[in-house]
Amino acid sequence: MTDRFAVVGAGQMGNGIAHVCAASGFAVTLIDVSADALARATATIDKNLDRQVKKGALDAAAKAAAMGRIVTATSLDAVAGATVIVEAATERKDLKLQIFRELDAKADAGAILATNTSSIAITEIAAVTKRPEAVIGMHFMNPVPVMQLVEVIRGLATSDAVNARTVELAKALGKVPVEANDFPGFIANRILMPMINEACYAVMEGVGTPEAVDQVMKLGMNHPMGPLTLADFIGLDTCVAILEVLHEGLGDPKYRPCPLLKKYVAAGWYGRKSGRGFYTYAG
Ligand code: NAD
Repeated sequence: MTDRFAVVGAGQMGNGIAHVCAASGFAVTLIDVSADALARATATIDKNLDRQVKKGALDAAAKAAAMGRIVTATSLDAVAGATVIVEAATERKDLKLQIFRELDAKADAGAILATNTSSIAITEIAAVTKRPEAVIGMHFMNPVPVMQLVEVIRGLATSDAVNARTVELAKALGKVPVEANDFPGFIANRILMPMINEACYAVMEGVGTPEAVDQVMKLGMNHPMGPLTLADFIGLDTCVAILEVLHEGLGDPKYRPCPLLKKYVAAGWYGRKSGRGFYTYAG
């Protein structure tokens, strides 16, 4: 049986996940509560597929076929018939728990219920369903069509079969799966966020300017992007939210979000998406 995907949440991650599903030959239903978000997502996928055609990575017929595999819906009822559901809605625990209660009621028996959460415990999400063995983390990186990694995170009750199928699905999407267990921040953010946080402390304490910190990590450590440029790209609000999960979940003061980072978020300086963070962005 060929897998059919449903993606819940059509923001920057959801549209990227739908893009790679469709470009990899899978039918995908993209679901969002906002019809505007769905329209924006479809336009973004169309533009990003065009870019792949211009680069020669895809031909025009393959692009048209990929667009033809995507349908949109504003109700979770549309998950019926999907064998794999990837939830990529806003990073709020109450919201994700409610979505998984509904998915449990509406998804086909045997469907994989995956979440793209950056930091919320898979085990806790699974526990609101009557099928915790089917719930797993499938953590794509931003921008999804470009980044190779998918972190596959097992909750306490995730079955071996669901884990193995998810690893195979990530490969079928052209990604490289890396398996992790369910602890705060998983692997990616457990390591990345303390580095970003330390870079913020270095700026706050006057060790260096944001430019100096980023240059040291780029030129000295061969990172393709400095940590503060990356933080602006991820969103400073998202960085604080993930650090709070690490701090609370692991109980170690070394994870406390840097006061300067919190001050920027309080000021509405969220990074690229708000036009200002550690750097300013035009337009
Ligand atoms: P986003 O704000 O761009 O998109 C979230 C979308 O979810 C919005 O379109 C919103 O309308 C929709 N939504 C809200 N409630 C919904 C509901 N009940 N049903 C359906 N849709 C609903 O957010 P994003 O950056 O795409 O992040 C989505 C998820 O991916 C989060 O869990 C986030 O932690 C995770 N993630 C983000 C990144 C990143 O770099 N931004 C990287 C990896 C993982």
